[in-house]
Amino acid sequence: MIIARTKVELKDTLKNLSNRPGKLALIPTMGNLHDGHLSLIKLAKLKSSKTITTIFINPLQFGNNEDFDKYPKTHELDIEKLEKEQCDVLFMPVNKDEVFPPPGKIKNIDSGMLGRDLCGKIRPGHFDGVLTVVNRMFELINPDIAIFGAKDYQQQILIKKMAKSLYPNLELLTAPIIRSQSGLALSSRNNYLSEQELKLASSLYKSLQQSVISYNNKINTEEIIKDAQKFLKSKNLIFDYFELRDSQLNTVKDSNFTGKKVFLASATINKTRLIDNIEF
Ligand code: AMP
Repeated sequence: MIIARTKVELKDTLKNLSNRPGKLALIPTMGNLHDGHLSLIKLAKLKSSKTITTIFINPLQFGNNEDFDKYPKTHELDIEKLEKEQCDVLFMPVNKDEVFPPPGKIKNIDSGMLGRDLCGKIRPGHFDGVLTVVNRMFELINPDIAIFGAKDYQQQILIKKMAKSLYPNLELLTAPIIRSQSGLALSSRNNYLSEQELKLASSLYKSLQQSVISYNNKINTEEIIKDAQKFLKSKNLIFDYFELRDSQLNTVKDSNFTGKKVFLASATINKTRLIDNIEF
């Protein structure tokens, strides 16, 4: 695997790679790779002949009170895992200047109304930061395919919306959520939790599963959400939001809505915010 640490190294690497036939797939990450991330790389290997992973902890998507400084960094282990998956290129910029132009020249992307809803309500500016960095990676790398996880459901919808207008030829794929045995969606932030907290955290998925069962049993959505809230509280999870939306994240008003739907939830345990969802 070739590791590029600067814009110039990335440019040279991509130039060499362009001599090889086939599609180039991009998998953007913030590192501390787990099986969720690796599933995206496996999917990329199936769908393309050249793969590039990025590891960059993007300051623009962290709020002032968030964990930017303490976000887990495990570069050596990450490299080992990527080598094992036979990823072709890793772009792991040494600093933000190897990604962004100087302040004032950054092309900021506005995530719109949807970017200020759900997770965006709790994390103002987060999705503008995500779209700005993803757009920059698309500009720098010019992939044929880009892969994101369904774990960050709202994120992948917003990226698809952005790419539809700015990169109409780019193919965006969404990979399913990878979970631990307890059902907890894998996340780098799970590292902040104790063993006891990890057990409690798996209640988030249980509440989503129960909500799908209840919905299919024609129970009123408001009641389902109240029950989920009560259940999460009993497990010491602080409830952030719990909502039913359609697959494009529009509000579902009709209780007989037959299209694809998603229950999305966010809850906090000992200052660590967890998100999860089930599409059905
Ligand atoms: P992150 O490093 O958290 O920014 O995640 C990088 C990519 O991996 C994003 O597209 C995430 O949605 C995806 N991802 C993170 N956790 C999981 C998971 N448990 N299952 C599938 N994809 C995931």
